[in-house]
Amino acid sequence: MDDCIFCRIISGAIPSQRVYEDDEVLAIRDINPQAPVHMLLMPKRHITSLGDVSDSEGPLIGRIALVAASLARDEGLAERGFRFLTNAGPEGGQAVAHLHFHLLGGRQMAWPPG
Ligand code: 5GP
Ligand code: ZN
Repeated sequence: MDDCIFCRIISGAIPSQRVYEDDEVLAIRDINPQAPVHMLLMPKRHITSLGDVSDSEGPLIGRIALVAASLARDEGLAERGFRFLTNAGPEGGQAVAHLHFHLLGGRQMAWPPG
């Protein structure tokens, strides 16, 4: 989608700091990090949000979670802990309408989220 900022990042039209990539998944560093480690993991195919996935996308969502776990280990977060989340839709606080998951770590997280 030409008007989707993350599709433009995936195509390379907008530069990003890539940390992982395969045929289906891209992980980049967030441009405005909210923690010492802040990555975004997304499907390369445009899906608007977790509210839009179908059963057939189960393996893709599972793969993204496994990539997040691997990146967390790479960043030394496996034992310290980390947070993995998605914001979905207006009340979920989703700003970019291309499904993505945040991987945050390197500081103590608070609960509940704002
Ligand atoms: P959301 O609020 O949709 O869950 O999160 C969107 C995230 O995308 C934010 O953390 C924001 O900093 C990040 N972001 C927005 N534009 C860009 C960009 O052009 N490059 C990168 N690397 N991150 C971006
Ligand atoms: Zn997109």
